[in-house]
Amino acid sequence: MFSKILIANRGEIAMRIIRSAKELGLKTVAIYSEPDRKSLHAMLADEKICIGPAKASESYLNIPNLLSAAEITKADAIHPGYGFLAENPRFPEICESSGITFIGPPASIMRLLGDKNRARQEMKKAKLPIIPGSNKVIADIYEMKKTAQKIGYPVILKAASGGGGKGMRIVRSGTRMEEQFSIAQSEAKASFGDSSIYLEKYIQGARHIEIQVIRGKSGAVLAFGERECSIQRKHQKLIEETPSPFIDEKFRRKIIKSVEDAAHFIGYQSLGTFEFLVDARKKFYFMEANTRVQVEHPITEMVYGIDLIKEQIKIAAGEKLSLSHDLRLNGHSIECRINAEDSKTFIPSPGKIDFLVLPGGQGIRVDSAAYCGWNIPPDYDSLVAKIIATAPTRIETIKKIRTALEMTTIVGIKTNIPLHLNLLSNSDFIKGNYDIQFMEKFLSKKTKH
Ligand code: ADP
Repeated sequence: MFSKILIANRGEIAMRIIRSAKELGLKTVAIYSEPDRKSLHAMLADEKICIGPAKASESYLNIPNLLSAAEITKADAIHPGYGFLAENPRFPEICESSGITFIGPPASIMRLLGDKNRARQEMKKAKLPIIPGSNKVIADIYEMKKTAQKIGYPVILKAASGGGGKGMRIVRSGTRMEEQFSIAQSEAKASFGDSSIYLEKYIQGARHIEIQVIRGKSGAVLAFGERECSIQRKHQKLIEETPSPFIDEKFRRKIIKSVEDAAHFIGYQSLGTFEFLVDARKKFYFMEANTRVQVEHPITEMVYGIDLIKEQIKIAAGEKLSLSHDLRLNGHSIECRINAEDSKTFIPSPGKIDFLVLPGGQGIRVDSAAYCGWNIPPDYDSLVAKIIATAPTRIETIKKIRTALEMTTIVGIKTNIPLHLNLLSNSDFIKGNYDIQFMEKFLSKKTKH
């Protein structure tokens, strides 16, 4: 096992990793940018080191500075968290050449799955159904129009190096294609430095269903029951739950088995998530695989009674997978992402938290790095806290998370708690009757009234 882990991240996920590392008896090193000097993760790690100014490219994304920090503090492993460098294959490569273990999959796997178009082709070989679409990156408008016509509108243009919903455009007819293709290309270039675009059939009324998988170095594999993440705004998840109200046990077993087989096929290592779209007829299609821990991982931990980060660390240290197929899904869990933003306009609301009461009680988990007096910098994402409720049934979980949100008080900044409370009281949500287009309809109704 390692002796000291450097956490190449900030905010709630850095706190989350510190917690598991401490429980494993490992020392932790926090890195922080100048505006994060008084952040909780920097205060609670065993050691801390400033790695640069606010701009992420000069601090949290600065590989030479991160490596120097690891060398100075004699850390023997680096956990990337999510976002920042978590899916950059250069990072594990450089870690390896410096003799530091990267807690995640090898660079080759990251490279394969990070190119979403290549990942599609590989998953096809692994016998996972993929969304009908182009089988390569599309270079010009002529080819784009031809392929879209063959597949049939509506289609969705996607950035091969994409993530976070950027570079994605839905195109409903040929007349809009030229304009949308060029927008997608420039958005992809600006966000990922790569303008490669491919195309997929746009699946109407689909649900976002994802499967957490973990595979050890010796090939032991375990996939878990689905997380449903269809409540999204602009392709960004807002509420996640497990199990999905849409999925039955037979389907669950089938999709779990498919993911375990696919993970074997590509020789996956570490923790990862396979994302799918499931249509109204319960046909599932592979969308992409994320080679890191995800924001919504706690709901899986809650219903299975496990610690995914500890497993991820142990696997990176070469230990055997200690979880087994005897694990059973127990109860229901829902996560709400609390963002520092106006709940109507979605304009970010960074600033000082003047007063803070976070919820607690049986079945409530809060993953956060917020505290009273903390000044949320405007430079990073707006996630303030993840509030997670777990109870024996779905309806009890909804009531529990609603109560938790009502009892949460955050003064000084605006949050999206009012939006969450509205969503959790919506009769279609309560019935489990929703898909990935739900939020769009929900918000347009709200503005009309
Ligand atoms: P990113 O990596 O940028 O988050 P994903 O490929 O995971 O992008 O897609 C994000 C979301 O976009 C999905 O959860 C889904 O809501 C929507 N989406 C993606 N592909 C399709 C598709 N072919 N049809 C319908 N919706 C899609």
